[in-house]
Amino acid sequence: MEELSHWIGGRHVKGTSGRFADVMNPATGEVQARVPLASQSELDAAVAEAAAAQPAWGATNPQRRARVMMKFVELLNRDMDKLAEALSREHGKTLPDAKGDVQRGLEVVEFCIGAPHLLKGEFTDAAGPGIDMYSMRQPVGVAAGITPFNFPAMIPLWKMAPALVCGNAFILKPSERDPSVPLMLAELLQEAGLPDGLLQVVNGDKEAVDAILDNETIAAVGFVGSTPIAQYIYARGCAAGKRVQCFGGAKNHMIVMPDADMDQAADALVGAGYGAAGERCMAISVAVPVGEDTADRLIEKLVPRIEALKVGPYTAGTDVDYGPVVTAQARDKILGLVQSGIDQGAELVVDGRNFALQGYEDGFFVGPHLFDRVTPDMDIYQQEIFGPVLSTVRAKTYEEALGYAMDHEMGNGTAIFTRDGDAARDFAARVNVGMVGINVPIPVPLAYHTFGGWKKSSFGDLNQHGPDAFRFYTRTKTVTSRWPSGIKEGGEFTIPTMG
Ligand code: NAD
Repeated sequence: MEELSHWIGGRHVKGTSGRFADVMNPATGEVQARVPLASQSELDAAVAEAAAAQPAWGATNPQRRARVMMKFVELLNRDMDKLAEALSREHGKTLPDAKGDVQRGLEVVEFCIGAPHLLKGEFTDAAGPGIDMYSMRQPVGVAAGITPFNFPAMIPLWKMAPALVCGNAFILKPSERDPSVPLMLAELLQEAGLPDGLLQVVNGDKEAVDAILDNETIAAVGFVGSTPIAQYIYARGCAAGKRVQCFGGAKNHMIVMPDADMDQAADALVGAGYGAAGERCMAISVAVPVGEDTADRLIEKLVPRIEALKVGPYTAGTDVDYGPVVTAQARDKILGLVQSGIDQGAELVVDGRNFALQGYEDGFFVGPHLFDRVTPDMDIYQQEIFGPVLSTVRAKTYEEALGYAMDHEMGNGTAIFTRDGDAARDFAARVNVGMVGINVPIPVPLAYHTFGGWKKSSFGDLNQHGPDAFRFYTRTKTVTSRWPSGIKEGGEFTIPTMG
C-alpha cells in the first residue's frame, strides 16, 4: 500500500511519529494509501526550517515573487487533468467538479500575480514641515493553514498563494482524508521556482493542529472546516497571541418567491443541493418557498429532477451528477439525520436510503433525499447535514422566509430567486449572511472579491482571498520621517530646532 509523506525543505519526507491515517477511495470503500500524522516535534522542526528560509524570501522583490505565481498558474493548467484525477480518487467528486475545485483555487493564484500593486502601501507627501509619512505591508513571518477535506485544491491554494506572495513562509496542514493534491501543489510550486523550505506540507490530525497553535514562531493561522473546530482554533490561537481567521460550517437557505421562474429555481436547487453530494460549504441545504402554491409548484418541479440524478464513481466521467460522500462515517451520519427527520415528522418526498450501485456496493454512496414540511425545531434543520439532502421549509410570507435565514445560527451563503428587483434589493440589504445570491444559487465570490460568512460560519474579522488576504498575511508598519534642512543649505553650526 502506498505510504504518503510530508513535504519539508523541498522534498518528500517520511513520517516519524509512527502514527498513520487511512486514505480511502470513497467510490470503492478501499483503503488506497496511508498518510503519516505528524507529532509536535515534526511540526516544530518544519516551522524552524521555514523560519530560516523566510527572511531572504521576504526581502525578494514582490515582482520576483509574483513571477513564481505566474509560472505556478501555467503549471496548474498543464497538470489540471492529473490533479483532478488524484482529487476525485480521494474525495469522490466528479472529474468536472474536481477541475472546478482546482480552477477556483488557480484564480486566486492569478490574483496574487498582482502582488506588487497590492503591496504598494500608502504615502503622504509633506504631512508636516519636512515630514513624509508612509505605510508598508511587511510579511508576518511564518503563517499556517489548516484545511478541510471538501476542497483539497481550492482552499489550500486560497491560503498558500497569498501567504507566500506576501513574503511569508507557509505551513499547510491539509485534511488527512485527501492529502495527495496538496503534496502535488507543493511539487508544482517548487517547479515554479519557489525556494525550498518556504512551503511545508505537514500532514496530521489534532496533534499537528495543536502543535501549530502552541508553536511560538507561527504568527498567523487560517482555518477552514466545521464550526466547533473553527471556534476551538480561534479561541486557542487568539489566546496564544496569534492572528487567526477561522471559517466554519453552513446552512444555506434559498428563498423562492412566488414570481420566480420555477424551472430555473428547481434547476438551481438541484445543482446547489446535490452537487458534490452536498459536501460544499456553499451548498443550498434549505429551500424556502413563499406561499403554499409556490411550495407545491416547486416540489412538483423538483421531484422528477431529483429522481433523475445520476450517482456514481468519478471514473464514469461526465455521466454522473455526483459521487460518493467522503467516508463511511459521513454516510452513516447523513443517514442517521435522515432517520431523525422522519422521526421528528418531516415528510420524506424523495427517499434515497436504499440506493445501491452495482459493482460499488462497498462505496460510500448516498442517494438523493428531499424533505418537505421541515420545521426549525428539527435536527435536520438545525444541523449541517453535509450530504445530498435538501430540506423544504414552507413560509407564508417573504418576511417569514427572511426570518428563517436571519435566525439560523449559520450565515455563510444564501440566495433569493425572484423576478422582483425590490424584493431582491431588500433581501440583499437586510439578510445577516456573508454571501448573497440573487437568482444565483452558489454565490462564491470571484478571486478579486473576498469570501467569508457571518455568525457561526466565521470567526475573525478578515475574509479569505481578494484584498483581505493581503491584509491578513501582512503587518502594517507606518513610518513618519522628517529631514531637517541639511547639506544643501550649507553647514549648520547651531543645534537644529523644529520651529
Ligand atoms: P473538520 O472540522 O472535521 O476538519 C477541518 C480540519 O481540522 C482538518 O484539517 C482536520 O484535520 C482538522 N481537525 C479535525 N478535528 C480536529 C480537532 N478535534 N482538533 C483540531 N483539528 C481538527 O472539517 P471537514 O469535515 O474536513 O470539512 C467539512 C466542514 O468544513 C463543513 O462543516 C463545511 O461547511 C466546512 N467548510 C467551510 C468552508 C467555509 O469557507 N466556511 C469551506 C469549506 C468547508
